[in-house]
Amino acid sequence: MPRKLVLIVIDGLTPAMLENAVESLNVPALRFLMESGEYRRAVTTFPSLTPVCLSSIATGTHPDVHRIPHLVWYHRGEQRLVEYGSSFSAIRAAGTTRAIRDAIFGMNEEHLSPRTVTVFEALEAAGLVTAAVNMVCYRGPARHAPTVPWLTKPAFGPTRFFYYNLFESDVTGAPLAIRTRARGSVDEYARVVGRWLVTRDGFDFLVFYLPDYDFASHAAGPEGAESALAHADRAIGSLLEAAGGPDAFLERYAVLLCSDHGQTRVEEAVRLEDDFDGFRLFRPGNGRHAELVVTASNRAGMVYRLPGSRSSSAELAERLDGNGHVVLYREDGTGVARRDGDELRFAPTPDGWDMSGAEDVLSQPDALQRAWAALGNPNSGDLVVSAAPGLEFADLGGRHHVGGGSHGSLEQGDSEVPMISVGIGAPPARIVDVTPRVLEHFGVSHAH
Ligand SMILES: [Zn+2]
Repeated sequence: MPRKLVLIVIDGLTPAMLENAVESLNVPALRFLMESGEYRRAVTTFPSLTPVCLSSIATGTHPDVHRIPHLVWYHRGEQRLVEYGSSFSAIRAAGTTRAIRDAIFGMNEEHLSPRTVTVFEALEAAGLVTAAVNMVCYRGPARHAPTVPWLTKPAFGPTRFFYYNLFESDVTGAPLAIRTRARGSVDEYARVVGRWLVTRDGFDFLVFYLPDYDFASHAAGPEGAESALAHADRAIGSLLEAAGGPDAFLERYAVLLCSDHGQTRVEEAVRLEDDFDGFRLFRPGNGRHAELVVTASNRAGMVYRLPGSRSSSAELAERLDGNGHVVLYREDGTGVARRDGDELRFAPTPDGWDMSGAEDVLSQPDALQRAWAALGNPNSGDLVVSAAPGLEFADLGGRHHVGGGSHGSLEQGDSEVPMISVGIGAPPARIVDVTPRVLEHFGVSHAH
C-alpha cells in the first residue's frame, strides 16, 4: 500500500510570495515541506479563477472537459446568469438565493460535467477513503445531510466531507465565523478539522483547501498578505503536529502543495459592458430582446451572442481594440487571439499547433493549450477576454480590487503557481497534472 496523501491548496498564493516567505518569514511548516521535497513553478488553467482552477485540480482536466467556465457566466440552457460569488454585491445583483444555490450545489451537481471524474470519485470507486476540507469542487459518492436548517437538500462528496460547516461528515468541534473572514476564520476552521482528521488518521487522501490567503491578497495586493500566509502555515503546522511532528507526518503521508492561481496588482478597474455601448445587453431579471450577455469579474470576461445578435464574434472582438486585452474567439474551427488589432490564428494538430499571425499575442505560459481549452468549453462565451496587465473588470455589483490584487487572465503573474511535492515524485508542471499524479500514486486508473 502506498503512503497516504495530503493535497494542500493555498488559494491565490504566488510562487514569488512562497519563495520569499520560506527565506524570510515565520512559516516553519511551509519551510519544512519545501526543504523535505522538490519545488517548481507550475501553470494553472484559464480563466485563472478559483472555481475553474479548483475544478481543474479535482478532475485533472481543463474547462473544455470539466465545463466550469468562470466565476460568473451565462447559462444558455436556462437563459440566466450563474454567479458563484465574485463579491457580496455581485451575489445580491444575481439574486442571493440563486447564487448561494449555484455555489453550494449547482456547480458540483449540474455544471461540472457528468462525463469528467473527480479525484474523489476515482479513489472512492477503488475502495479508498477520501476527505475534503472546504474544497469547492467536491463531487463524490457519499451523501451528506446539511448541518443548517436553511439548506434543504443533501450534498454528494467524499466520505469525510467538511464544507464551511454547512456539511460535516463528523463532529469535530471546529468553530466557524464567516464574519471574521479577514482575520483568517475559514482557515482556522480548516486547521481544527484537519487536526481532527490527522489525529484519527481518518483518510487515505485529503484535500486541505485554505481560502483566506486569496481573500487577504485581493485586499492588500500580492506582496502584502504576509500575515494571511502565516495563518495558512499555522493550519498546515497543526496537521504536522497532529501526526506527532513533521517527520512522523512525512512517514505517514506524501504531500502535494500548490495554489489554484496567482495574483497580480490592480491599478485600474473598467466595466467590460462599456465597450458594448449601443447593444441591447442582458441584465439579471431583464433578458427580453437582449442580443448580448457580458459577464466579467476579476481579470477575465465573457461575451455571449444571443440568437438576435447582429454582430459576428470578429466584429465584437474589434470593439475591444486599444484596451490591451487578449480577446479569444473561434472562427471556422480555428482559434483567434486578438490584441489591439494584432491577430494570431491557432489550432491543435496531432503533433503541435498550427499558427499564423502575431505569435506574441499568446506568449503567456502554456497559453495556446489554455486558450484553446477555454474556447472549447460549451459554457464559455463566444468571446473570452483576458484582461490587460494592471486592469480588472468590475463585477455585477460594481466591485473591484483597485489598489490590491486580482487574477483571471492568461498573464504570467495570474497563471503561475507554486508546486511542492514530497514523497510523490517530481512536482507536476501543471495543475491539471495533479489528479493524474494522485491516481498514479494510488495505482488507480483515470477513467474519463
Ligand atoms: Zn482562488
